[in-house]
Amino acid sequence: MGTTCLKIFFLFLFVISIIFSGSTSVLAAWITDIRFWSAPDHTRVVLDLTEQVQYKGSSLEKPPQYHLELKGVNLFTKKREVQVNDPYLSKIILSDLEKDKIKLIFHQKKSLNINIFPLNPYLDKPHRLVIDLVDLAQEKKEEEERQRQKEVRPKGTKTIAIDPGHGGEDPGAMGPRKTMEKDIVLKIGEKLIRQFSQNKEIQAFLTRKGDYFIPLEQRIKIAREYGADLLISLHTDGSFNPQARGSSVYCLSLSGATDEAARVLADKENMSNILGGASLRPASFTKDRNLNQILLDLMQNNSMKESFRFAETLLQEIKAVNHLKFPSYRQANFIVLRAPDIPSLLLEIAYITNKEDERLLNRNDFQEKMAKALFTSIKKYFKP
Ligand SMILES: [Zn+2]
Repeated sequence: MGTTCLKIFFLFLFVISIIFSGSTSVLAAWITDIRFWSAPDHTRVVLDLTEQVQYKGSSLEKPPQYHLELKGVNLFTKKREVQVNDPYLSKIILSDLEKDKIKLIFHQKKSLNINIFPLNPYLDKPHRLVIDLVDLAQEKKEEEERQRQKEVRPKGTKTIAIDPGHGGEDPGAMGPRKTMEKDIVLKIGEKLIRQFSQNKEIQAFLTRKGDYFIPLEQRIKIAREYGADLLISLHTDGSFNPQARGSSVYCLSLSGATDEAARVLADKENMSNILGGASLRPASFTKDRNLNQILLDLMQNNSMKESFRFAETLLQEIKAVNHLKFPSYRQANFIVLRAPDIPSLLLEIAYITNKEDERLLNRNDFQEKMAKALFTSIKKYFKP
């Protein structure tokens, strides 16, 4: 090709690229799906988008409604009406306004606080727009109720917080038969709570009671409000290797992980905040500046030692229920285990990505046995 030909060729490419970049900028985004999750104090609505869009919202007092206008967007989803029917929303109506403009009307059951934020694509998740409709009074009531549980607890009794991992937008790991980690860990958590219903010495509470997302730091805050003496985060493992099987137990490490696999696992579990969409209301998570750092380090040290002791007890009980992946506990920097004042431990119950383990995880008797093993080890931990 001669130089003139080359110049013409590049000019052609240049013109083509302008046409394409021009045309993509005028193409509107699409709403491909709309989902919702009901939490005790809020409803989260998530719009899936092909790209980020401009939005403008306004609240109506009577009737209580939230109107959200999206610019530069078309409806791809066939949904024109989403029935929610939870304590806060009755339905959401989607309608086309003028060209490339969509209006969403949230029919509220009461006056709510609205918190909107975009989420960027992550792994298999597209661009998203999150609309949190929060009942601030209920949020406060939930918090007060947890603190009340702490205040009324009889002297000498212990409290444990059971934390079913993931939830809502964040399904956690997924099995070959599409079993979701978030569902299994909630079921086992509920079974474990039931084990404690007749026990007068130990009170047990769940951090998450349904299919909704809680940021990792918030889970610690909830445990602390209950006055937890122990926090157990329940998970199921996932691997690209379908042969990987077994249970494993993890404690916090502040100075690097036991091994590369433990570090990768902690990174994966810590991603929960990004996948589930931690809302931008971090005020309540900031550290208490009045706490003395030396005191904090001492507390952390003691909590970690206690968590190692519990880990050993738990491994002894678990091995009668499922094959252990490692004979002892591992350590890594999991966000959910970072409470300096509460001994905390993370249990990977089994590999949901393994066909056999997935089958076990779905079985009622396996879930019961796992809850029983946890129950026994917790009792032994408090009464060595
Ligand atoms: Zn997990």
